[in-house]
Amino acid sequence: AADAAMYAVKSQGRNNIAFYDAGLTVQARQRVVMESRLRSAINLGQLYCVYQPQLELSSGRIVGAEVLLRWHDEQLGQVSPAEFIPLAESCGLIHQLGLWVLQHSCHQVSQWLQAGLPAFRLAVNVSAQQFAKDTMLQQLKQVLKDSGLSAQLLELEVTESALMTDEVRVIDTMHQIRALGVRLAIDDFGTGYSSLSYLKRLPLDVLKIDKRFIEHIPAEQDDKQIASAIIALAHTMNFKVLAEGVETAEQLQFLQQQGCDYYQGYYFSKPLAADDFAALLQNSGG
Ligand code: C2E
Ligand code: MG
Ligand code: MG
Ligand code: MG
Repeated sequence: AADAAMYAVKSQGRNNIAFYDAGLTVQARQRVVMESRLRSAINLGQLYCVYQPQLELSSGRIVGAEVLLRWHDEQLGQVSPAEFIPLAESCGLIHQLGLWVLQHSCHQVSQWLQAGLPAFRLAVNVSAQQFAKDTMLQQLKQVLKDSGLSAQLLELEVTESALMTDEVRVIDTMHQIRALGVRLAIDDFGTGYSSLSYLKRLPLDVLKIDKRFIEHIPAEQDDKQIASAIIALAHTMNFKVLAEGVETAEQLQFLQQQGCDYYQGYYFSKPLAADDFAALLQNSGG
């Protein structure tokens, strides 16, 4: 497989894709190529972070930003995280990538604050595997120390499915993270199968409604009801609630009526390059 990957990389480099290993399907070959290129992406400086503003609905202020990883490869072009994150998870690279994002974004935000930009909270995605590893807490402490970022300004986003394994350990880890002052958000909420009794036991700060429940508002009556039920549920459990994927004024108005706390989405801004985000934050005056 490694030889096939090398060959594929070389042949792509000549803009001439020819495969002679008949043992691999086209998809499998692409995967192997992508994996080998992703392995070197960190060292080649091909990874970078973009920042999407998170706003408070009541005030319209930027109160946070979600950092999202981007990868530009010379041959493959721009590769979506929807493609390379699952790949990184399946080949074990996610630990390295995840740590890089955490370090890089915490340092970035810390620098911005030192330069006088208004304070906001940084939200970082953490994959299930990172979350399950016992080195995570130590790494988190180290990154906070090295970057000088206040723990109160950091939030970790974990998907519902990441919280579904090994309940006791997961809850213990969550308590330890929160003891540092770091906040916890459950990402893509509504797409997993967590029971209400489990959810109630989780030490969470924020629940993020998955964008699939937002995208068809106001046309879909069902989605409106689901979104408002999730907002009510979150508040009953004393969690804040954020709506993802807000693209229209109608959606925003609906969410405001339902008492949603925060939102993010193309309606206000797409994820921005670091400099553009800093400029936006500066101009918004916090
Ligand atoms: P996510 O964490 O749920 O991030 C939200 C995704 O929705 C992002 O896609 C964002 O660009 C997109 N989005 C934001 N507003 C809108 C909108 O109004 N409309 C639509 N259609 N989409 C919107 P992106 O950047 O492609 O990332 C996809 C997923 O990849 C993320 O979903 C997350 O699960 C994963 N991901 C990205 N960066 C990282 C990372 O650093 N670590 C880990 N573990 N996962 C990451
Ligand atoms: Mg997220
Ligand atoms: Mg999400
Ligand atoms: Mg997601």
